[in-house]
Amino acid sequence: MNFKSYIRVIEDFPQPGISFKDITTLLQDGTVYKQVIQELARQLRDKEIDVIAGPEARGFVIGAPLAVELGIGFIPIRKSGKLPGETIEADYALEYGKDKLAMHKDAIKPGQKVLIADDLLATGGTIATSINLVKQLGGEVVGAAFLIELDELNGREKLGNIDIISLVQY
Ligand code: 5GP
Repeated sequence: MNFKSYIRVIEDFPQPGISFKDITTLLQDGTVYKQVIQELARQLRDKEIDVIAGPEARGFVIGAPLAVELGIGFIPIRKSGKLPGETIEADYALEYGKDKLAMHKDAIKPGQKVLIADDLLATGGTIATSINLVKQLGGEVVGAAFLIELDELNGREKLGNIDIISLVQY
């Protein structure tokens, strides 16, 4: 399946100079969406993963169905102020802009093996911050999975020594 052909590229969104990879055109096709999740699951099935964590909002779109497919739990990583329980927070810088990510303090049991999932790896800032939060909670980050990876931004280099998979590269 040529997943790339289902992704729409929109120039100058959300800012001039950004070439935005729009996955909504892929998600609206149920057959293709399912194949994305099944292909990620196939590549991850033999790894020991206890739980998947994904940053809002598009990390939910990949991470939650992947967790269901693998029969494990899903933990939301959210923007500051959205989670109702006690949280820890960390600052992060995006390809464009800045924000804070948060997780519930009791989201992870110490020693759990965690996979981080998101739609796209750009500079790696979002996932580096997610890794930081998971580690603060005592989790062990064993890998990261993406639908898309923007090769030229070298996001991988920010993520340390973990397994990284992506299905489509630009
Ligand atoms: P990073 O933190 O790696 O620089 O940026 C990745 C994050 O920004 C992801 O959470 C992703 O959803 C969002 N993002 C940045 N650029 C794009 C893009 O071109 N397309 C999509 N779908 N998401 C993007």
